[in-house]
Amino acid sequence: MPETLASQVAAGEVIERPSSVVKELIENSLDAGAKTIELEIRKGGSALLKVKDDGCGMSPEDARLCLERNATSKIKAVDDLNTLHTHGFRGEALPSITSVSRFRLTTSQDNALPATQIHIEGGTIRSISESARSIGTTIEVKDLFYNVPARRKFLKSQNTEFGHIEHQFKLSALGNPEVRYILKNEDQIKWDLRPTKDARLRIAEFIGLELSKKLIPLTPTQVGQIELHGFLLPGSEARNTSKQQTIFINSRPIDDPVVRNAIRDGYRGHIQPGQFPIVWLWISMPPHELDINVHPAKREVRFRHQTEIKYAVSETIASTLSPKRNPVSPPQFFQNSRTTEASSEHFESTQPAEPTPLARWTTSTQKELTLTETARLANEEKPPAKSRSHSFTVLSLFKNRYWLCEDSEGLVIVDPKASRERITYDTLKRQLEASEVQAQKLLIPSVFETDSRETPLIEENLQLLEEMGFEISSLGKDTFQLLSVPNVLSSDLSEDSTSILKDLIDGLELVRKKTMRELPHQSMLHTIAQRSGRTQSSAIQYADSLLTELVNCSIPYCTAAGRPTMIHYSENEIKKKF
Ligand code: ADP
Ligand code: MG
Repeated sequence: MPETLASQVAAGEVIERPSSVVKELIENSLDAGAKTIELEIRKGGSALLKVKDDGCGMSPEDARLCLERNATSKIKAVDDLNTLHTHGFRGEALPSITSVSRFRLTTSQDNALPATQIHIEGGTIRSISESARSIGTTIEVKDLFYNVPARRKFLKSQNTEFGHIEHQFKLSALGNPEVRYILKNEDQIKWDLRPTKDARLRIAEFIGLELSKKLIPLTPTQVGQIELHGFLLPGSEARNTSKQQTIFINSRPIDDPVVRNAIRDGYRGHIQPGQFPIVWLWISMPPHELDINVHPAKREVRFRHQTEIKYAVSETIASTLSPKRNPVSPPQFFQNSRTTEASSEHFESTQPAEPTPLARWTTSTQKELTLTETARLANEEKPPAKSRSHSFTVLSLFKNRYWLCEDSEGLVIVDPKASRERITYDTLKRQLEASEVQAQKLLIPSVFETDSRETPLIEENLQLLEEMGFEISSLGKDTFQLLSVPNVLSSDLSEDSTSILKDLIDGLELVRKKTMRELPHQSMLHTIAQRSGRTQSSAIQYADSLLTELVNCSIPYCTAAGRPTMIHYSENEIKKKF
């Protein structure tokens, strides 16, 4: 039976040990939209692994199909591979598992119809019958590797294997706090984790109430296309292994040296050398920015832009741990051209190195979560940030555009326009999250006309525009008047206050056509930030106040779209050139 053999070979890659089965089955349950996932284990998983979920279930045909090789329902076109958000997509896991175990699948898609039960042993279907269960799927895997004695021999003690299973279980539970997770071992309930929207509560279940009081919420951050949130424990809680660092990328747990090093860098000065801080980190970024299929069990990822990720992680952690610290030198990739960075070892990237202005944000579900999450964390958990002063001495204006400055470490070239863009973005975002965008009434309302394409866009977004500080009223067919603008723009808009509306409408149109993977308010935020950047004067008299505002931004070194605001040359670098 070559088919079975192929499955067993593949199983060797995907199914290393019982915990790999657990991982695959739980991922399938999540992909099926389960709200409750119950895992039952006997003898470290070698006797029984059972996963029961209340997900969407399968029809009798799908149930049969899913056990065939490459029968995934998750890839419909090659294009999908780049945008996939589900966990599994190779259609390999179930056939691999059935080929090396005694396997039973019971599934129902419709409470009014009988459930389907399929029994397979060592890859051979033994029976297909009708059964009873409510909507959802139960998968039982008995006697794993019973027909591959060499593999079975390599299983470790039951306790060790259970340890791996529990680790996998916890990872998945941390990645999906809104799902109820139950773990039973030898008939005893080990964990019953209540669903919650607050990841901190899920973390607290595992580390205990006492320790959880010390959790420090990460200042939520966006750098280019990368968004970060999470929790840290103070350096004093650091351990001797990295086991307690939990990292998710787009909800998927990963184990990645780039991120681990960046975590260590972020904690510099807070931990002893050789210690590992305890963190929970959720990173989101557009799927095309990473390759998650490097390892058959998907534990490794490769980033297209390693330097950005490193910078985002270390800088965010560092500024969370020491909110008042002086800004560090911008990283290498802002100093030089992108050549070193773009050749990131494993990647033959055909993507442009700069984030393209059209794809600045992550997927829509993540976006929404991040914004509300950000607001919540910003409002509840962060003490009000004290304003810090900048440490630059402004030397001169260069080419009528840039400010040459010096700081303790060297020469800094600042782009006032990009700086303003970052400041406006942060300010407006903060006001928006607090639902208190400050607006200024125009002395004389500006009347403007729209064409038939623009009118409905304005009408649909009147409310949102007002929340953003643009009060607009209709004066009849295709004519509107603008009554107010957000404060962040008021100084720039003396005569031409309606042209920004054209830009906003263009952005909204792209959102509607889904050319931009953004929500309307995000598109507006970017448009307004860019607009205020364009109108920022480079006159040196503005340098002091602008630099102060800039160093108080979440990430002073680049705009929300990832463009640098300043470039740094250390004294050493300059000396070397002479
Ligand atoms: P993949 O997850 O890569 O698609 P799998 O072999 O893990 O491949 O699963 C094959 C298919 O079986 C899935 O695409 C899905 O359609 C179906 N399936 C597996 N587990 C479940 C489940 N718990 N609930 C509903 N459908 C499932
Ligand atoms: Mg799967």
